[in-house]
Amino acid sequence: MKNFILIKLAIITIGLSQPYDIVIEQGRVIDPETDLDQICNIGIIGNEISNITKKSINGKVTINAKGLVVSPGFIDLHAHGQTNSAHRYQLKDGVTTALEMESGVVFIERWIEAKKGKSLVNFGATAPHGFLRSIAMNKNKRTANQLIDHFNKNKMKLEDSTSDKSKPSKEDEKLKKLFNDLSSSNYESQTYSETEKTKDLIKNYMEKGALGIGLPVGYYLGASAGEIFEIYKLAKTLDVTVYTHTRGFGMPGIQEAMAAASTAGASVHIVHANSMSLGEIETTLSMVESAQKNGLDITTEVYPYTAASTSLESILFDEGWKETLNISYNDLQWEKTGERLNKKTFYEYRKKGGVVIIHMMKPEWIKKGVSHPISIIASDGMPYAPGAHPRTAGTFSRILGKYVREEKVLDLITALKKMTIMPARRLEKIAPSMTRKGRLQVGADADITIFNPNTIIDKADFSGLKYSEGVQTVIINGKIIVKEGRIIENVFPGKPILSKYKK
Ligand SMILES: [Zn+2]
Repeated sequence: MKNFILIKLAIITIGLSQPYDIVIEQGRVIDPETDLDQICNIGIIGNEISNITKKSINGKVTINAKGLVVSPGFIDLHAHGQTNSAHRYQLKDGVTTALEMESGVVFIERWIEAKKGKSLVNFGATAPHGFLRSIAMNKNKRTANQLIDHFNKNKMKLEDSTSDKSKPSKEDEKLKKLFNDLSSSNYESQTYSETEKTKDLIKNYMEKGALGIGLPVGYYLGASAGEIFEIYKLAKTLDVTVYTHTRGFGMPGIQEAMAAASTAGASVHIVHANSMSLGEIETTLSMVESAQKNGLDITTEVYPYTAASTSLESILFDEGWKETLNISYNDLQWEKTGERLNKKTFYEYRKKGGVVIIHMMKPEWIKKGVSHPISIIASDGMPYAPGAHPRTAGTFSRILGKYVREEKVLDLITALKKMTIMPARRLEKIAPSMTRKGRLQVGADADITIFNPNTIIDKADFSGLKYSEGVQTVIINGKIIVKEGRIIENVFPGKPILSKYKK
């Protein structure tokens, strides 16, 4: 008996003194899934949260989080910026997982391989329906082959030419031209067999790790309702979600997506409800909420800014845009220089191609979008450029600073749910690894963002990108990547988020 007690004591002592790899001390720990909101200590071993306790615990590394909020790392469903230059801004905004779900990624298998071990944050993407439908069209056979040839011969670039400051190479120019050649298909619908081929290509992308179908039909208005419906039926068969930038602006496009999804029995996520719905944001949110109550798998997201951003050469600026958006040339801002456009520069730049920021929404619409219980927060962050839309750098801090602290439009836990557990749940069916993200629980991945709720704020604005302030520590897969507000160099803790179909 005495021996038994001694052994037991020894075990307890070992248990107490066994250090965790990292201990986060005395932070206000918030788990948006269980509504835990208490001052606790967190022990991390390897890439996992091993303990959450009020008792004192020892770690090889200790982070003092007194006065700070300890939250699951933010999950961004909508990040076009997929280079480390873009990831740096995302990290400083508290993001630990940045996914490209709207447009998807071309040649996804090679992209995943190229980013493995080299990414600052967790990453993943959908199958790019827009691209796949165009290469499936007979008239594009030659261009498609040239593109495949290009990607087979060249390394997948992890930085774009804007961020590494070098001039675009000959290969870059050639690639740009090939993609341009495909763009005439945006005005045409497919034949039955072309749609069948597109479906095969999408299935193939799922096996390569794609997280659903990116379907920005608003950029290829030639696609018929029937062609698009076929893709929703495929989504049902594959049990994956369609992420869609809907057709045109306003309710008809949103209703098309909801009707296609509901009748096909498929799941749909409507991206950037704010810029799609414009003044009818309440209708969109009310419809999504009602759909959910009726058992349909429909979700949506918003970003907290009154301007949109996209390519000036895109179909969105075909004749009629001024009337649709109720704006004029002067409401467009050229990303490269920050200048506002006029009729002359509009046509000049449209011919050249490039990104514009579109000042077109009202603050009340954004407030309604952000505060609604069903909206997920997603940035729609752009590829890195010094003058990129501020959502690229400030989305999550802006929600916590401006909308939670300053304007009290929503409370802290509700805001954190929209950035963590809600996007994680959206992905769980296709990506089982997401059941361990978006949560602060024992057994969850150690993707953690620690921030000061009294100071967190976005600093980027329409005059240029700036890092957000107030995020003190970011941990991804158990590795510290932001410490005392600074990014640690040469650490690449990001891992791919892959579909369950990945072979
Ligand atoms: Zn979009």
